[in-house]
Amino acid sequence: MKRLLSLILLLLLTVQVSSCITPDAPPPTETVTVTDAPTETEPKEPDKEVFLPPWSGADDAARLFFESANKAVVDHSARDYSYAEMEEDLAHLAKAYPDRFSYRSFGRSVAGRELYVATLGNPDAKQQILVSAGIHGREYLTPLLVMKQIEFYLYYYDVGDYNGVPYRTLFESCCFYIVPMTNPDGIMLSQEGISSLTDPTLRKTVEEVYATDKEKGYTTQADIDEYLKFWKANANGVDLNRNFDALWENYRSGEREPCHKNYKGPSAASEPETRAMVALTETLTNIQAVLCIHSQGEVLYWDCGQEKALLDRTLTFTEAVADRNGYYIVEEQNNDASYSDWCALKKGLIAITVETGVGTCPLFIDKFEAIWFDNFDLLPLSAEYFQ
Ligand SMILES: [Zn+2]
Repeated sequence: MKRLLSLILLLLLTVQVSSCITPDAPPPTETVTVTDAPTETEPKEPDKEVFLPPWSGADDAARLFFESANKAVVDHSARDYSYAEMEEDLAHLAKAYPDRFSYRSFGRSVAGRELYVATLGNPDAKQQILVSAGIHGREYLTPLLVMKQIEFYLYYYDVGDYNGVPYRTLFESCCFYIVPMTNPDGIMLSQEGISSLTDPTLRKTVEEVYATDKEKGYTTQADIDEYLKFWKANANGVDLNRNFDALWENYRSGEREPCHKNYKGPSAASEPETRAMVALTETLTNIQAVLCIHSQGEVLYWDCGQEKALLDRTLTFTEAVADRNGYYIVEEQNNDASYSDWCALKKGLIAITVETGVGTCPLFIDKFEAIWFDNFDLLPLSAEYFQ
């Protein structure tokens, strides 16, 4: 009996002690779910063997990382970085770095593809920076750039630094919300042609745009897939970067009907991709800056007619970016109902457009090397700038 009592006592003590050392469950973190769409998906393939060189200073590490393309999750050795590859890589990275990376859907494209936003760093950080890439179909080196940047910072999170400030410090105090493919339908039309659309109605829309573009002399291509390589718009033939509610009614220099580029749509924010970006941006409460990554020209746009104080702050940040990547700062004011115009004019945010690479889009993968070395540390640079 005595033995039984002491056993019970011991058991009670154990329970007591273990409950003392069990930390409280962390409070639920605030998420920015804009839709009810499913979030993470399991990788479709077994995990890749990732073996990258050790950190050896930013420039050296960036070079070795670049040369180890096929050893990384985000592989740039193939020319076209597709939507499916991006989905797979997001899942791999979320599984490999759950403490510093996640992603979720925040809407759907016209053709029903999930729009993903990745969260790099501490989601509870006081500061936020939003990055949008791939809003124009044929500019699909930009999703590759931001996906490689993400993996680079994740891999070297605990050992890497920007100008002596550890990546961990930067990304724990400034969280990045990154949309690698804002226009997945346009990107897949440019990469794979008309077969990338399964819906016959959407195919018909794009075929009609092809016919009117031929009539207007915008293309002499006899093959629709060759013509589609230069496609910038979404699957409705609307240029998403002319569709935002920022002096939309004033934008007259574009097309009056669906086109491979520059058609602003039947009304401001008529497109689901535009509305999703608006909703995503509005859920973030402390955005320091918005980076819009495009191709091409190696130039920076920053002046869209925003009020003076914001204009000055935007220019100072643009100069910091130009100091690093050597891109030319465009002096003329530029306003064309773009996402960055909307961020600046409607939300009062510092928003800049970074036109990466030189040449005719779609740029070949051989242009990626210069794009990478000019811009690999753009995100920690931005985080450090706003510290
Ligand atoms: Zn563009």
